[in-house]
Amino acid sequence: MGDPSRRRFLSSALLGATGLPLVAAAAGPAPSGRFREETQELPLKADADVIVCGAGPAGVAAALTAARAGARVRLFDVHGCLGGVWTAGLLTYIFDFDKPGVARELRAKLDARGARRGANASRFVYEPEEMKLLLEELCVAAGVGIRLHTRVCAAFKSGRRLHTIVTESKAGREAWTAPVFIDATGDGDLGAQSGCEWDVGQSKDCPCQPMTMNALAVVKDVRALAAFTSFNGTDSFTGPGGHLTCVEAFKAELKRAGVEASYGHPTIFPVRDNLVMLMLNHEYGIKPWDADAISEATVRSRAEVFRIMRALRALGGVWEGLQIAATAEQIGVRDGRRIRGRYVMTKADLLAGARQEDAVARVTFGVDIHAGSKEANRAKPIDNGDFRMRPYDIPLRALVARDVDGLMMAGRCISGDFVAHASYRVTGNAVAMGEAAGAVASLAARSGRLPHQVSWDEAQPVIQAARAKGL
Ligand SMILES: Cc1cc2nc3c(=O)[nH]c(=O)nc-3n(C[C@H](O)[C@H](O)[C@H](O)COP(=O)(O)OP(=O)(O)OC[C@H]3O[C@@H](n4cnc5c(N)ncnc54)[C@H](O)[C@@H]3O)c2cc1C
Repeated sequence: MGDPSRRRFLSSALLGATGLPLVAAAAGPAPSGRFREETQELPLKADADVIVCGAGPAGVAAALTAARAGARVRLFDVHGCLGGVWTAGLLTYIFDFDKPGVARELRAKLDARGARRGANASRFVYEPEEMKLLLEELCVAAGVGIRLHTRVCAAFKSGRRLHTIVTESKAGREAWTAPVFIDATGDGDLGAQSGCEWDVGQSKDCPCQPMTMNALAVVKDVRALAAFTSFNGTDSFTGPGGHLTCVEAFKAELKRAGVEASYGHPTIFPVRDNLVMLMLNHEYGIKPWDADAISEATVRSRAEVFRIMRALRALGGVWEGLQIAATAEQIGVRDGRRIRGRYVMTKADLLAGARQEDAVARVTFGVDIHAGSKEANRAKPIDNGDFRMRPYDIPLRALVARDVDGLMMAGRCISGDFVAHASYRVTGNAVAMGEAAGAVASLAARSGRLPHQVSWDEAQPVIQAARAKGL
């Protein structure tokens, strides 16, 4: 990104946000049990046209597209790699990916590395370590200023206009200003810090989807596990060899081993050779901003994964030699904040198969609501909404913050209700949203406008030009 211009930023104008600690307040006596942080000067960098917060599937696509469209881009992530749930979360499976642009490019580049399994262009297995490297190479080549190990922790506005964020890292606290920001944190951290209204789960008390810790394991001979491994030669859900058939066979093995997985559809599937992915647990009622609860859920779920693997290994036979290769650094968060946009997608859109003039993507993935409690999990681990969903459009307006100017969202934190989110959140859609947000943000920043002043039609040539650079 070249040598940034450095000024000093006085973090005094605190925004009332949403339960998140903001960065600094005036010194002075604080009520008992509270500590008042002193106002301080921070280094201020003003070297970006677009700042993308969060480098998951949505954030990487946004940063890549904005940079390819000519914007100077800063991309922040709290983890030590790009990819979010794809990599730090060890997801290994992709849904709703048969889309043009960055999605098609990633699929082709994974294929070129031999890092993708499956004939279906929309749903397939990928190797998470290859994905890490690929995303880094693409972002470096596009000139994205990548900053890892850095958390976005506060936001500052003048009136409705977001102008500065503050990050925290080993480099201390730093302030960053830009004309346009994209919240791709999955949990909507930036939108919340900026004072946007937001929703979560079925209500603010978070009857919400459970969290799951994914893991990788090595087995002696994956062919010997064919009856228990989902997506092993077929991507169908039902019938012989289908996902649910394998799940039931795997559950019977768990029973034989004397253990029960807390996720009612425990899943094991091949990633490469004798490397398999495990999705075994559910953690209920955890709010993604409750650091204590997330820490406890992480510790509990890692222990559960090991408990189950040890019990299976003790069975011997096809399970002999089973070893955990890696557990996810980040427990998988299905439900985070949904920042209010200029359009809120709802269940009615899914029922109607809504078409939008400013459609940034068409969602074909159905509703996927994991049980919200142990009891519900016993009765029905996954609820598909009990209605017929029709492919529907995500409008650009759902990616533009309603309450704050200069802020867009991409990925699972865009604007929608609980049911719509349970469908559009999968990674093919996150990538398409990121691409759209990156193009619009770049256009807005470089033409001195706000994202809501840029039309989707205007963004088309920008997207096409950015795509041409990705071929
Ligand atoms: C257990 C589980 C299974 C799933 N199964 C599938 C599946 O099979 N296929 C599929 O396609 N989708 C699946 N999904 C859904 C999908 O993974 C997510 O919805 C998707 O990752 C959304 O992408 P995103 O970029 O919005 O968010 P994320 O992948 O969550 O990325 C957000 C990024 O922001 C970073 N971040 C967060 N807060 C901050 C902050 N304050 N400062 C800096 N960085 C921050 C995070 O570190 C992360 O890298 C699954 C999700 C889970 C949890």
